[in-house]
Amino acid sequence: MPTDLEQLVELQRVDEEAARLQALLDAIPKMLARIDAQLAAARQRVEQAKAAIAAGEAEKRRHDQEIQSLNDQIAKFRSQSSSVKTNEQYKALLSEISHAEGQISSHEEKIIEVMLNADTLQGKLARAEAALKAESAEIERQKSEATRESETDKIALKAAQARAGEIRKAVDENLLSTYDRIRGSRGNGLAEVLEQRCTACQVMLRPQLYSNLRAGSAIIQCDSCGRLLYYVPEHNVSTAAANTSGIAHQAEREWMFVPELGTSGAFAVFSNHRGNATMKAYDAVTGEAIAHRVEKNATYQSIFASELRNARNLFVDQAGVENKFKEQLPQEFLEDLRHQLPNS
Ligand SMILES: [Zn+2]
Repeated sequence: MPTDLEQLVELQRVDEEAARLQALLDAIPKMLARIDAQLAAARQRVEQAKAAIAAGEAEKRRHDQEIQSLNDQIAKFRSQSSSVKTNEQYKALLSEISHAEGQISSHEEKIIEVMLNADTLQGKLARAEAALKAESAEIERQKSEATRESETDKIALKAAQARAGEIRKAVDENLLSTYDRIRGSRGNGLAEVLEQRCTACQVMLRPQLYSNLRAGSAIIQCDSCGRLLYYVPEHNVSTAAANTSGIAHQAEREWMFVPELGTSGAFAVFSNHRGNATMKAYDAVTGEAIAHRVEKNATYQSIFASELRNARNLFVDQAGVENKFKEQLPQEFLEDLRHQLPNS
């Protein structure tokens, strides 16, 4: 790999670390505001419980006063009863007294209700106060942890920024400005190539570019996303080794070119779904469906290991193509897959 490119690979690593730390630091005020809001909500629940209790007490006092004034009325009626002249007047007084007594018992019932409710409200208040206490302690803990972490992050961020500054001095100016420009628009300026594919945008490299890249003879940009490309031979060796042992095939669904199927190879989609492994294959020349196998309680990586042995990854960005075109792949899609094959 050209030295400048090696420097850029490190620069990107440092830049990404700095961005990660900056994002953590930026998130802190929001987090503090969120936990403050939590605390305010817990305080409000306590205040609400206290207000409900006070309202209950006021209601009880009101009923007590009503009873007091009704008792006064009854006493007054009783004292009048000795001076009434007629039976009708006496009856009328008795009726007033019994009416007032009826009102008193209805106020007494209300008081019992209020007192029962007060017990429930006291329980609520006790729970709200306990929750507030626990929450306050937890929030204090979170705040001091956030403060401590942010101090560490600030120091690490400074170190990353200083390191980035050093690397930038050592890299060719034009290359650096290309890196910065792509990073500005794409989030990062550099992408590794694995299995002839740009790992950032997943597009296959043209064979000529790929061999130039591997030779390390020039700085190469991805045709599709424009990122500066780099190639680490060891990473590709390990991927190839893992492929033959099946370890690299961890995806739950992927399109592959299988050279052993069909007249001269097949495009097949492998998937794991609800414990079933599926392989659906189409002839690479005609696009006709040639195989559809579903195996219960299996993964395609193990059950179709022999089909996968020499298979090659394909990039397909539309989901469910095989469900839409059960018998025959459309020409356009077929051509797109063929273009991803190295000798096309
Ligand atoms: Zn790309």
